[in-house]
Amino acid sequence: MSTYYTNAVHKVWSVNASHQHIELVCQEGSGTHWTPDEVIASIAGGNVWRTRGKDGSSALIKPLQYCPAPGCLTKPYITTSPDHTTANNLDNLPACQ
Ligand SMILES: [Zn+2]
Repeated sequence: MSTYYTNAVHKVWSVNASHQHIELVCQEGSGTHWTPDEVIASIAGGNVWRTRGKDGSSALIKPLQYCPAPGCLTKPYITTSPDHTTANNLDNLPACQ
């Protein structure tokens, strides 16, 4: 089992263009792109996924059944719990290169 960090994400607009979805997360170090499906499968397999914010802080990534936007049934989805800094929020990470 391993702990993986992501420090960048690739987002796409939802079908009705009201909000954005995380399509890929970029693994820190290797630069490998992982889909939310792949991250959730990795977590289910016993690995830990965390964000790394620009301020060096980190947050645990957890699966969600659906996108948290009201009325949106896009799934699966991954998120982080709010903490003392927004820099490590999954949605706030900079764009993948
Ligand atoms: Zn959505």
